[in-house]
Amino acid sequence: RQPIVAIDGPAGAGKSTVARAVAQSLGLLYLDTGAMYRALTWLVLKLGISVNDEPGVTEIASTCKIELRMSDDPQTGVRVWIDGEECTQEIRSLEVTSHVSAIAAQKAVRSELIKQQRLWGEKGGLVAEGRDIGTHVFPNAELKIFLTASVEERARRRRADLQNQGGLELSLEKMQQDLLERDWKDSNRDIAPLRKAPDAIEIYTDGLTIAQVTELITNLYWE
Ligand code: C5P
Repeated sequence: RQPIVAIDGPAGAGKSTVARAVAQSLGLLYLDTGAMYRALTWLVLKLGISVNDEPGVTEIASTCKIELRMSDDPQTGVRVWIDGEECTQEIRSLEVTSHVSAIAAQKAVRSELIKQQRLWGEKGGLVAEGRDIGTHVFPNAELKIFLTASVEERARRRRADLQNQGGLELSLEKMQQDLLERDWKDSNRDIAPLRKAPDAIEIYTDGLTIAQVTELITNLYWE
């Protein structure tokens, strides 16, 4: 199979933007696994099911069809459909963001979505981005990156993203609080918690531009 690049890290470290740019520059597919957990969360909320109703959530996870397609607009990232309905904008809402970690902590949900992620990776030729890509989904990935940044920087970036999408104005303090809370949930769940894989290369992105981080990663890929 072709090589796989795994990019993991905490919320708001710039994984999506960087992974997309790296994929484009290397001519590889781009897989945003967070978008899959978000799409499922959106559907669960829309159906009025509690995110803590594990049997209910499992049922949806095992029957729903999630589609991801690259958008032409670099601001949009991936376009996402679940059961034929587009939810590209909706999955970035504060409501989905605040509930997604509860859904992502469920064992059956993870095994279902990871099955789909591995299908994407069967032939390789992929940049996959998330929390457990280097540790669980593709432990044999040729290149593993762990992207981090200070919480202040991550909050600034998240706020700028939300503003670009015409979203709500939130204070930086509130954004920081939300990011830390989500990181805590993602790092302290029982299955596949957020961790740096032992063989991942850590890149601290404060003070670096997207172009610089992208170049660092593409250089590592060719090394
Ligand atoms: O990366 P993004 O912020 O879109 O991810 C949303 C949420 O999905 C994360 O906070 C985490 O709870 C979950 N997630 C995960 N494993 C992944 C990708 C995302 O648990 N590989």
